[in-house]
Amino acid sequence: MSAKRKEILVVLSSPSGGGKTTVCQKILKKHKTFVRSVSATTRSRRKGERQGRDYIFLTEEQFRGKIRKRQFVEWAWVHGHRYGTLKESVTKVKKQGKVAFFVLDVQGGMAMKRKYPQSVLIFLLPPSMSELKRRLVQRGTEETSEMKQRLKTGLREMNFWSKYDYVVINKSLSHTVKSVENIIESERLKSSRFDYARWRRGKGVT
Ligand code: 5GP
Repeated sequence: MSAKRKEILVVLSSPSGGGKTTVCQKILKKHKTFVRSVSATTRSRRKGERQGRDYIFLTEEQFRGKIRKRQFVEWAWVHGHRYGTLKESVTKVKKQGKVAFFVLDVQGGMAMKRKYPQSVLIFLLPPSMSELKRRLVQRGTEETSEMKQRLKTGLREMNFWSKYDYVVINKSLSHTVKSVENIIESERLKSSRFDYARWRRGKGVT
């Protein structure tokens, strides 16, 4: 039995337009010790996105090379592009912070649970189906055909809610952030993460 407070791997998923990126950004801003895993993707860079900060943007060839070399923990096709979590990203965030966020689609979420059963899976739901559709349409960063694809995928992804450990309805940003913070705090206090040996030595445990 390990006697250390282990790091917490938090997977945030939602149907496209569910707000997971915004929620993650807000939490990282509030908690400077929290970190986020940067995924690799073959999709092109959007305005304002930076290489290495938002994603590791790779060519199709580069991505396939990393698959061949087994460098991914998981990877998936999402909306016609490849997205994946690199093993080195997981190692990095595990080293860096006690709480590490993974903003993934449902395929990535399921893969993380298989590989890291201790990870905490949170599913963000929009307040209603009509709100989900509205957010997808409003996004406006893609061509109509791509948006239709996102809507279709989004509706399919909704069915995964029951496979997640927690479901949070993302009605207001501040409320959602609070809920995620509460989940992390509860997870942190789990007996399996308690450093009993350290506490016994009188070191105190954070
Ligand atoms: P976007 O292109 O809008 O940033 O992301 C599209 C979708 O890909 C989102 O649902 C996002 O969470 C997902 N995604 C981003 N990175 C990864 C990853 O590493 N693995 C998987 N499976 N999905 C990812």
